[in-house]
Amino acid sequence: MDSISLFSLRGKRALVTGSSRGIGYGIAEALAGAGAEIIINSRNPEALGAAAAQLAEGGARVKALAFDVASEESVEDAIAHAENEIGPVDILVNNAGMQHRQPLEEWTLDKFHQVMDTNVTSAFLVSRAVVRGMIARKSGKIINICSVLSNFARASVAPYSASKAAIANLTRGMAVDWARHGLNVNGIAPGYIATELNEALLQNQEFNAWVEKRTPMGRWGMPAELGGAAVFLASEASSFVNGHILYVDGAFTATV
Ligand code: NDP
Repeated sequence: MDSISLFSLRGKRALVTGSSRGIGYGIAEALAGAGAEIIINSRNPEALGAAAAQLAEGGARVKALAFDVASEESVEDAIAHAENEIGPVDILVNNAGMQHRQPLEEWTLDKFHQVMDTNVTSAFLVSRAVVRGMIARKSGKIINICSVLSNFARASVAPYSASKAAIANLTRGMAVDWARHGLNVNGIAPGYIATELNEALLQNQEFNAWVEKRTPMGRWGMPAELGGAAVFLASEASSFVNGHILYVDGAFTATV
């Protein structure tokens, strides 16, 4: 096998949650570019349809599957539909997530739960539904989107950083439980990436200056820059990489 074919995803099907925009869209596009059929997801069917049309225009083989990753019922129905009507899911990227910024003492319990449910419980629910087929087929790749805030805290986003620390260790736990079934479970921890989730920060000059100074590469990352790491972790090239968190952060976590 030549080394380039190690990265080929031809014949594979990938579900990327939260992929109507931002990092999920960038990852879905990269997986499609490596040969995978992609299933994109978000809660909003219109936005999802528009994203699917744009990806198809770029040559992707793409299906749209609208469901709420934080709802057990919605996840179970959607994955059963996907496996029966579209086909087996070989690659799952748990990317859907949300942010909320408020001084910690002002956070409501509802908002705390919403962040945890969207960022962590979702990965458990979607993985549990998809992994049944993967275990039966004795193969599968799961990639969980973590964060540099899996390791660090920042003012006003403590529940978010708690959720990202949790998904990093959930990733290790999934690898430990499922490696014996032939699965690889890894994480990608992005640094500061220019997406809608960070819209308020992107509009804030002071924050922009902080990101540029704090990140040794001196800039925000772009969603497409997560694509290479995702293709690697979804492909044969990473066959013995398991339970690992790959930082794609412009050296953010390499410096103080
Ligand atoms: P965006 O807000 O740009 O995109 C989030 C995506 O998730 C959208 O497609 C959104 O669609 C979808 N989504 C949100 N909630 C749900 C839900 N309950 N069910 C299904 N889909 C949902 O975010 P980013 O692209 O910036 O972030 C993607 C991931 O990367 C998140 O996990 C985030 O925490 C992580 N991350 C982001 C960083 C950054 O700097 N941007 C840095 C580190 C990690 P809709 O709302 O229509 O459902």
